Amino acid sequence: MEIYLAKTQGFCAGVSFAIDIVEQALTKYGAPLYVYHEIVHNTYVVNDFRNRGVIFVEDLNAVPQGQRVIFSAHGVPPAVIQTAKDRRLKYVDATCPLVTKVHNEATKFSAKHHAIVLIGHKGHQELIGTAGYVDPGLLYIVENEDDIEHLDIDPATEVAFITQTTLSVDETTAMIDKLRKKFPNLIGPPRSDLCYATQNRQDAVKNLAQLCDIVIICGSPKSSNSNRLRETGEKQGVPSHIIDSAEELDMKLLQGKKKAGISSGASVPRVIVDQLVQRIQKYFPGTRVHTFENPEKKIVFALHHLK
Ligand code: SF4
Repeated sequence: MEIYLAKTQGFCAGVSFAIDIVEQALTKYGAPLYVYHEIVHNTYVVNDFRNRGVIFVEDLNAVPQGQRVIFSAHGVPPAVIQTAKDRRLKYVDATCPLVTKVHNEATKFSAKHHAIVLIGHKGHQELIGTAGYVDPGLLYIVENEDDIEHLDIDPATEVAFITQTTLSVDETTAMIDKLRKKFPNLIGPPRSDLCYATQNRQDAVKNLAQLCDIVIICGSPKSSNSNRLRETGEKQGVPSHIIDSAEELDMKLLQGKKKAGISSGASVPRVIVDQLVQRIQKYFPGTRVHTFENPEKKIVFALHHLK
């Protein structure tokens, strides 16, 4: 068996930024520490923080008045910030700066009274946050090309689009093309809202799929970008599976395979991939591991100073 590790995988700069904020807050203020929503969508990361006294809440009313709360990397709508202020909570915003950029676009388009098409997955925390920056009367959420078919907006008007940051690059490109055909005066962000980590991780899985006869993605069920990686492998015609922990992999899937490609979502700690590699090597003695130069090493987001 040969293992190929994707060139770009694991923590992105936004996830490192959010996790570092929680680490700093734990060191500075101690437990209990409240975090609104899972800081990132990864079971290992969330359980580790939980064991160290972090309390994850889905409702700010669960945070005692005057306490400190951290907003997750996915971002929050303005109404949540207002609730925090009303309840006199001390809040720290760990929203990824690339998500904040999308919030700013949403605010700008909304202030200009454009109809705004938001491409993303309904119910995902990031989409809920971004939608909150748009006047509800101007907002149209679409998940697929079929939803675009059914959009009831005057095609003669200037229509704006924004997207969730962690979608399939290929599907989103096709959806924007379709929007452009339907709305000739379509306007959008100067650069795609899909973030560099999403693009790079999907490109790396495409490369793995050319080399390998199976692709395994480490990532949690709620993680949008991890699920898109599994789909990327599958769309290249290679059987692709997603696992939340190394123990979850059914080793029968590797029987008869010669080259396994492994990648991990942007919220997945390296330890999960290392444990998976060790498990495969134990099962198939002599398995060799191939790696590639990671071009993302220098991408970091500067941290806030906690007050
Ligand atoms: S996946 Fe992209 S948008 Fe999401 S936290 Fe990472 S860098 Fe930010």
